[in-house]
Amino acid sequence: MSHERDGRRFLLSGNWKMHHDHIEALHMVRDLGLRMKPDDVADVDVSVHPPFTDIRTVQSLVEGEGIPVVLGAQHCSDQDRGPFTGEVSPQMLARLAVRYVLVGHSERRQLFGMTDATVASTIKAVLRHGMTPICCVGESADERVAGRTEARLRDQLLGAIEGLEPEQVGGMVLAYEPLWAIGSGTPATPVDAADACAYLRGLVASEVGPEPARAIRVQYGGSVTADNAAEMASEPDVDGLLVGGASLDAASFLDILRAVAGC
Ligand code: PEP
Repeated sequence: MSHERDGRRFLLSGNWKMHHDHIEALHMVRDLGLRMKPDDVADVDVSVHPPFTDIRTVQSLVEGEGIPVVLGAQHCSDQDRGPFTGEVSPQMLARLAVRYVLVGHSERRQLFGMTDATVASTIKAVLRHGMTPICCVGESADERVAGRTEARLRDQLLGAIEGLEPEQVGGMVLAYEPLWAIGSGTPATPVDAADACAYLRGLVASEVGPEPARAIRVQYGGSVTADNAAEMASEPDVDGLLVGGASLDAASFLDILRAVAGC
């Protein structure tokens, strides 16, 4: 990375969604490990976010073979234990060496009823167990057309960080993911992505303080590929990328990593 980010390390995250069973996960991560070189991660942190059923397998592989990626999850409960059929506790994820948890991905908000309030309680649960939340925010196409992008981002961000200490906010990751860009093949322009990321950082500065604003990492996500990753990563306000479809294959994920590492 040639440009300054005030000491923030770039974070490239692969969100596998509901793809790859544990055998496929094993092959994918082993392939990734065989292809990766130490230089690839000199300036970039890499996380993979497999389905829950894959996490133990990926943990053993990554630890056993020293593959330089960290484990992430795609969601978790805001409760540590109890009668919550079908949920997965943040405590259980922390025991599996999960470091990052996506919170409030638009699919969780749209399909599974997550609200700003449950996003906030889940962020607290993730922090309680020493993991880092990646809080996803983003406007819909209609909101963008109506000029409501910033208002939407403001509501989501302020709702998510309500009641957190400034240091907790500074340690988080935000992912700006416009809904219309996710899985559509139409990414935001690098300038629009950077403007939104800068807006979010500015909000942290005005609402929480300059130090957390300097520290917090803000990713862009939505139809990122190896063809557009370098341009996105060249924007100083974009501290990372959250990648869905193009993270499923080791070669294409590595192409993205090499594109951003070479910026
Ligand atoms: C995502 O799921 O967070 C995402 C950004 O998906 P895609 O890269 O496929 O648009």
